[in-house]
Amino acid sequence: MFKEKAIEALKNAGFKLTKPRMWIVEYLDGNKNHPSAVEIYDDLRKDKKYFSFATVYNTLDTLVKAGAIKQITVDPTCSRFDPDISEHGHFVCKICNKVYDLENIQIDFEKDYIAEIEHIDLHIKGVCKNCKKQ
Ligand SMILES: [Zn+2]
Ligand SMILES: [Zn+2]
Repeated sequence: MFKEKAIEALKNAGFKLTKPRMWIVEYLDGNKNHPSAVEIYDDLRKDKKYFSFATVYNTLDTLVKAGAIKQITVDPTCSRFDPDISEHGHFVCKICNKVYDLENIQIDFEKDYIAEIEHIDLHIKGVCKNCKKQ
């Protein structure tokens, strides 16, 4: 499902479906790690898939603009990307820097000044259980 949507988005933006772009789409398909552009680039190169960093950057940018993936801002130093575009928050571990999904965020508050909530960009920082054990 994600793959089809992403391909559609690239086509609509006038991008040819080159191998590197397909590698990036395949890499993101079902990816739960919220990778940054640099991580995607490094991982694919480790897999002997070579292309320029600009390709990663431009492909991600196009996918974000087309609404096929989300850019998340849990880390002020680098953007991370999420193929899961459903409304959800994130939990970030300050030790291992892993980003976990927070499903079903229920925000139940009433404020006089809010007429309507359109989008929630929530992230919570802390220590994950894996890191706490060590
Ligand atoms: Zn951790
Ligand atoms: Zn996520």
